[in-house]
Amino acid sequence: MAGEPQSDCLFCKIVAGAIPATVVRKTDRTLAFRDINPQAPTHILVIPHVHYPNAAALAAAEPAVAAELLTEAAGVAEDEGLSDYRLIFNTGAGAGQTVFHAHVHLLGGTPLREGLV
Ligand code: AMP
Ligand code: ZN
Repeated sequence: MAGEPQSDCLFCKIVAGAIPATVVRKTDRTLAFRDINPQAPTHILVIPHVHYPNAAALAAAEPAVAAELLTEAAGVAEDEGLSDYRLIFNTGAGAGQTVFHAHVHLLGGTPLREGLV
């Protein structure tokens, strides 16, 4: 069923507590934890508890949860003392997506390159 946990999904395992993560913030619907391979001084992933393969699929099926990813990302930025930060949703392997459970990257803590690619 849509949104159900997938046994082969890394982020579903993190939501379930089966794989450890450095959690910085959570709600009944979302979880924020530090990226294991940080690309900036602050690099945090915000994910929904429910499983969808990417952010667009999440937004189509559960728009309130998709919106909560953004409000939680803003909350994480505030917690981290960041006024300037970047949010990234990689969608598809060709765009660098490696974990097919919707997530947003929050990057900050250093001046970020102005270019998009
Ligand atoms: P993406 O490439 O957009 O699919 O992002 C997946 C992110 O998950 C990458 O930045 C990885 O470094 C990160 N990642 C992979 N495994 C873990 C893990 N066990 N804990 C935290 N972050 C992870
Ligand atoms: Zn999943």
